[in-house]
Order: sequence, then C-alpha cells, then structure tokens
Amino acid sequence: MDLLNKTILITGASDGIGEVLAVEFSKLGSNIILLARDPSKLDKVYDRLDNSFSSQKHLILQADLNLLSNESAHEILRAITEEFTCLDGIIHNAAILGTMTTLEDYELSKWDEVLNINLRAPFLLTKTLKSILEDSTLPRIIFTSSGVANIGRAFWGAYSVSKFGLKGLAEIFANELETTSSIKVFNFDPGATQTKMRASARPAEDPNSIKTPDALMDCYLWFFSEESSNSTERYFEYADLSKKVTST
Ligand code: NDP
Repeated sequence: MDLLNKTILITGASDGIGEVLAVEFSKLGSNIILLARDPSKLDKVYDRLDNSFSSQKHLILQADLNLLSNESAHEILRAITEEFTCLDGIIHNAAILGTMTTLEDYELSKWDEVLNINLRAPFLLTKTLKSILEDSTLPRIIFTSSGVANIGRAFWGAYSVSKFGLKGLAEIFANELETTSSIKVFNFDPGATQTKMRASARPAEDPNSIKTPDALMDCYLWFFSEESSNSTERYFEYADLSKKVTST
C-alpha cells in the first residue's frame, strides 16, 4: 500500500485516536493536516510527525468545529489548496462526549455543541472539501461511529443522537457519490479504545483492559487500500474489520 505523499486531513488530531493516526500515517510518508481546537496540543503533535521523506509536509489547522461556518470551512479549503495539490482522505474523528445524563436534564447549549461538533461539522467539511478529493487517485472519507449509533441507551444523550445522525450522513454521502465519483465513504466504529473520552464515559473501567489507539491502525490502512475500493460495505466495527484485515 502506497501512502507516500498522500495528503490526509484528520480532525481531532491533537489527542487520542486522531493523534496516533496522525503520527502513524506520517511514518508511512503521508502529509498530515492536523485539525483540532487546542493550539498547544496541536504543536506538540506536529513536533511528533515524521519528516523522513523529502517531499513530505504537514499543516496545522487550528479550528473550533463548534463554530464552523460556511466562511471558515472555505478558509480551510483555501488553506489546504495553498499547500497541497489535492486531498486523498478525510478522517472525521473529532467528537465530544457531552453530558452523560437523561434527555430530560440535558442542557440545550451542550446538546447544540455536541451536535455541531459531531454531526454538523463533518457534513459541512465534507460538502466543502469534496471537490479537492476528486483529484486523488484513491479518495477516501472516513466517518467515526460508535456502539451507541445503533442502539439508544439511557444517558448517552446528544452523543448517541449525533452518531445515529452521522450514520445516516455517511450512508447518504456514500449513496450519492457511488455512481458519480471515485470517492469511497466508510463509517467506522473503533470500539473501546484507551483515550480521555473513553475514561470520561467509563470512569470505573481499568484502561489497561482495553486496546490502545495504535491497534486501530491496520483498519485505517485497509480503508486507504486498493482492496477497499471494491467493498460494497460502508459500515464497519473494529471487532469484525480487525479480523478481516489480519486474515488477508
Ligand atoms: P478524545 O477526546 O481523546 O479526542 C478528541 C479529539 O477531538 C481531540 O483532538 C479534540 O481536540 C478534538 N475536538 C473536540 N472538540 C473539538 C472542537 N470543537 N473542534 C475541533 N476539534 C475538537 O477522543 P477519542 O480519541 O476517544 O475519540 C475519537 C473518535 O472516536 C470520536 O469520534 C469518538 O466518538 C470515537 N470513538 C471513540 C471510542 C473510544 O473508546 N475512545 C469508542 C467509539 C468511538 P482538542 O483537544 O484540541 O479540543
């Protein structure tokens, strides 16, 4: 699989799963566009990115996805096209958990923030950046799902609703693009993974009982492979996909 000189935008690249994906894809020669909110965390990840390949370059896009507008999405498009000739992939990974409480007690402002970051921003970014993905030879859009995208569980509130919505969004983009574009759209549930979000959601869990983010890398590599171009499946869970990729 040739990831040399691929350009991949990773949202939520300053921490957790996104940070590990950024570092690992950079080691394979990809140019990484790091998007997140916190500038100091972004700088630290930028410093960890590999630069062994002469043509490799990386870009920080500091943005608060809660506040993303048409104008700021177009600024992101401009910033990317100033540095790169095309975009090969978007990994929509940024999300917040919001509050673990009943719907009755859910604060409206927090509800809006969760829906803005987890669902509205991936819609607006995809719609705005789609044109520069078209120039890639193997363009990919990967949305990030969750176990609570499929079943409504008490107290998961806006987070769960956002992931249900994202599932619909991914399916609609995939269906609209399958006959008109070479862009492949996938939606991936990484499953329980050691990060700050997981620790907030499950404070009583022993973090060492679950996988670290680097265990996900084989799945993400498969999404960027030629093999996945032939896949008619769009929704993947870590447990199934990791078995499939290790058996091939
Ligand atoms: P983390 O909380 O560790 O990281 C979240 C990332 O999202 C950070 O880089 C953060 O950046 C960024 N982010 C949050 N809010 C904003 C914002 N307003 N604007 C821009 N960036 C923002 O989460 P995980 O790594 O655990 O989760 C990654 C993805 O995986 C999420 O989509 C999550 O729903 C999904 N997932 C995770 C599971 C797990 O067990 N960890 C299980 C199932 C799904 P900053 O720090 O700069 O704010």
